[in-house]
Parts: sequence; C-alpha cells; structure tokens
Amino acid sequence: MANIQKQDLIIDHESKTFWEGVHDHKLLLQNCDDCNQYIFYPRIICPHCFSDQLTWQETSGQGKIHSFTVVHKAPPPFQDETPFVVGIIELEEGVRMMSRIIGERNNIAIDKKVSVVYEQINEEVTLPYFKLV
Ligand SMILES: [Zn+2]
Repeated sequence: MANIQKQDLIIDHESKTFWEGVHDHKLLLQNCDDCNQYIFYPRIICPHCFSDQLTWQETSGQGKIHSFTVVHKAPPPFQDETPFVVGIIELEEGVRMMSRIIGERNNIAIDKKVSVVYEQINEEVTLPYFKLV
C-alpha cells in the first residue's frame, strides 16, 4: 500500500471539496452555471467562459481511457507498487483526469470503459482510481 499522507495531497481552497467528495466515495466536479461545462482541475473561474458561477456536482464516475502508460519507476510513496498503469481518463462529463488504472494489464487499452473506485490508502487518505468495466 502506498505510504502517502494527507499532507502529500495538494489540498487548497479550490480542491478541498473534491477531496472531501473522494473521501465520501463521490466524484465531484465543478459545473459552470453559465456555459454548463464541467471543469477539472478545480478552480475559481470557468476556463471556458470566465464565469465565477461554479457549482459542485456529483458525476457518474464513468469514463474511458484516453491514453495510458506503464510506470516502472515511481517516487517513494508508490515505489513498492511498480509496475502499475497510469492514464488519462476522459469522463462522461467531458473532462480528463490523470489517475491509476487497475485491472488485468493486458486488457487495458485506449477507449476501454472504466469506472471510478475509491482506494483507501489510510485513515486520512483516499484516492480515486479507475478500473476496467
Ligand atoms: Zn463557463
């Protein structure tokens, strides 16, 4: 199990709600009230229309693999878990997010469907991973 602590997560004012959602096993994204697009990573202004009217919404947690790579050498919190797969997930809501992809490695491929799973690293830290559907 990764030796990752809460202080290793970059939790700021904008991303606090995202991490609270993950802790509660919900994948929350900001949605712009003005142009109705989803936004990731969290921020205070919509990157599409510059509105500051953003509302957190629970998402489906479903998506597909946009790209991926096998990690053979990882920084200390994850070095005992190599090799593992990291990829860019395109969520149904249209945003892309980098995450770990779990599942039979030979079956991992671009455009395969994935859904979010919540990996509890320790009491304080839960991370959103994606597994093959
Ligand atoms: Zn907008």
